[in-house]
Amino acid sequence: MATPITATAFVRALEKEGARVEEVRDWRNHNRNQQGPWGPVHGVVIHHTVTSGSAATVDLIYDGRQDLPGPLAHGCVTKDGTVHLTGHGRANHAGSGDDDVLRAVVAERATPPPHQQNTDGNRYFYGFECENLGDGEDPWPDEQLAAIVRAAAALCRHHGWGARSVIGHLEWTDQKSDPRGFTMDTLRERIAERLE
Ligand SMILES: [Zn+2]
Repeated sequence: MATPITATAFVRALEKEGARVEEVRDWRNHNRNQQGPWGPVHGVVIHHTVTSGSAATVDLIYDGRQDLPGPLAHGCVTKDGTVHLTGHGRANHAGSGDDDVLRAVVAERATPPPHQQNTDGNRYFYGFECENLGDGEDPWPDEQLAAIVRAAAALCRHHGWGARSVIGHLEWTDQKSDPRGFTMDTLRERIAERLE
């Protein structure tokens, strides 16, 4: 059971982890809290955006789309390895997923393959949207992967979580395929190394 990090502590934790941080507009007060609960938090979900162009991508994650209001994540990690903070509070990123997966994340066990949409992920997870076309061919520059590792590690360190608390959207629900182009196991290995 973890209380969500404050906006100020979030910035500090990211900077302490060596991340390059950009605060976007009114991100500290930008959330979907009026739509449902936020917290307790149990982990971090990693996504790809299916977009290209960093400025437009960050705007999309902040503003959302006609059918899905923003913020679409707490942070947007662009190709150059910058962590743009886009929301604080409940965000539209994880959607519904599998409570067996949530239990595994809480226990820091390997997650089972998801097969049901019975749990509100936006309540329990931080989310990072990462700029990539998600076609399996668009490269993931190492600056970007390193920034994802730093961003996830910052939250893990703050909450006393291990790398098992970081999952890909595809591990939360079988309705999603992101992130594509690297494996979550290799990302978790890098996060675990960082947290050592
Ligand atoms: Zn996603």
